[in-house]
Amino acid sequence: MPVEKRFCDRCMARTAHDVMEEPDAIYTYKRRRKYRCQECGKTSFKRGLRPSAESVY
Ligand SMILES: [Zn+2]
Repeated sequence: MPVEKRFCDRCMARTAHDVMEEPDAIYTYKRRRKYRCQECGKTSFKRGLRPSAESVY
């Protein structure tokens, strides 16, 4: 499972987050990702780090 350093609203710090691609969201143009903080377990939806770069490939 991919891990990204993202800001956690509950930890109030940048922590390691598990990245979970949402299967239902793959075909939408916004492709939100679900992040789960490894420190506190809080889940949140965030845009990808570089959504514009993905369309180049
Ligand atoms: Zn957290």
